[in-house]
Amino acid sequence: MQRKHFDADHLAFGEAFRAFADKAIVPSYLDWEKAGITPREVFIEAGKSGFLGMQVPEVYGGGGVDDFRFNQALDEQVALAGVTGSGLGITLHNDTCLPYFLSFCTDEQKQRWLPGIVSGELITAVAMTEPGAGSDLAGIRTTAKRDGDDYLVNGSKTFITNGINADLVITAVRTGEDRHHGMSLLILERGMAGFDRGRNLDKIGLHSQDTAELSFTDVRVPVANLLGEEGHGFQQLTQKLPQERVSIAVGALAEARATFENTLRYVQDRKAFGTTIGSFQNTKFVLAEIITEIDVAQAFLDQCVNLLNAGELGVADAAKAKWWCTELQGRVIDRCLQLHGGYGYMTEYPVARAYADARVTRIYGGSTEIMKGVISKSLGL
Ligand SMILES: Cc1cc2nc3c(=O)[nH]c(=O)nc-3n(C[C@H](O)[C@H](O)[C@H](O)COP(=O)(O)OP(=O)(O)OC[C@H]3O[C@@H](n4cnc5c(N)ncnc54)[C@H](O)[C@@H]3O)c2cc1C
Repeated sequence: MQRKHFDADHLAFGEAFRAFADKAIVPSYLDWEKAGITPREVFIEAGKSGFLGMQVPEVYGGGGVDDFRFNQALDEQVALAGVTGSGLGITLHNDTCLPYFLSFCTDEQKQRWLPGIVSGELITAVAMTEPGAGSDLAGIRTTAKRDGDDYLVNGSKTFITNGINADLVITAVRTGEDRHHGMSLLILERGMAGFDRGRNLDKIGLHSQDTAELSFTDVRVPVANLLGEEGHGFQQLTQKLPQERVSIAVGALAEARATFENTLRYVQDRKAFGTTIGSFQNTKFVLAEIITEIDVAQAFLDQCVNLLNAGELGVADAAKAKWWCTELQGRVIDRCLQLHGGYGYMTEYPVARAYADARVTRIYGGSTEIMKGVISKSLGL
């Protein structure tokens, strides 16, 4: 279906990112998949080309354009270029972490951090999840106890995207007993004594993305690194999670579309019983169903992005977009893999990597079950 969602500037931005990805990521992508991490230099290169911090005011070196469609155009090209593992670090930096800095930093903090976030010299991460608390965010146990002009931070986090590469980690900490009003956000910086990175975790997919454990032992964090007000952390996270969820939905739907396009090409080429796979009625129906489902979901998701831009996207609608698009991604990629036969099971084929990469989108950023809980709450249940 023809999309009228982007204007010429968004399309040009997306194309420019695609050219960047083809040059700076694609040639080394499989090596980085083996290495389990994408080099920090990719962020610097992306920053030089204007692909980081598009919303950051120009005075701090950013693009100064408050329009999530630029993020969406970039995120879609990550999928179409087939570099999901490496691209995730960039999209997390732009879509998920940056909003916290833009909304909650003081002028002094903005001066300290925003230029590096835009240049790619300061890579960001957000650390909520702990070994004992994932879906139950309010159950975190990492503590930050006030000690003069510092907080002393103790605890641990797990599954943190950009965990090895990150320089600035937005860290959810407990500053009080109350489950919701006793939570705050602190920026922990690379090099702080007692801030250690654990393992770069071995995952079933997204291999070129570093996902790590973090541990904190008496880390002395200046009060000047508090993001917003003490005790407001839970509300800050609740306020920013809808954009993270839309970002995940955008990536998921783009992955589904990219896999559909690869599969459409494949079935027109591959032959069995003296004809192409694409000539079988089953193949035609499967691909017809897939593109219909993708186009229908795209209309809803684009509307979510418009509402996000207008500051009107509710948590329930973001949750709908997240669970629907990620579950659709799983169904689409599974059916596309089937149409590849045995080749679909070989990791040298993009559909096989897409299959493994996709599984996590139904879990992180709030699982499908948690999304349905958010939606049912909006129904008064
Ligand atoms: C690759 C990867 C990257 C990640 N990146 C980050 C990151 O950058 N930062 C970060 O903070 N976290 C990150 N996470 C963590 C992720 O957000 C959590 O894994 C997720 O929120 C689920 O938490 P959990 O793993 O503890 O599962 P659990 O909370 O233990 O859930 C287990 C199962 O129980 C279900 N469940 C839980 N509660 C309910 C309920 N009330 N009703 C019904 N079902 C329920 C869940 O849906 C799930 O199916 C990442 C995870 C992965 C795998």
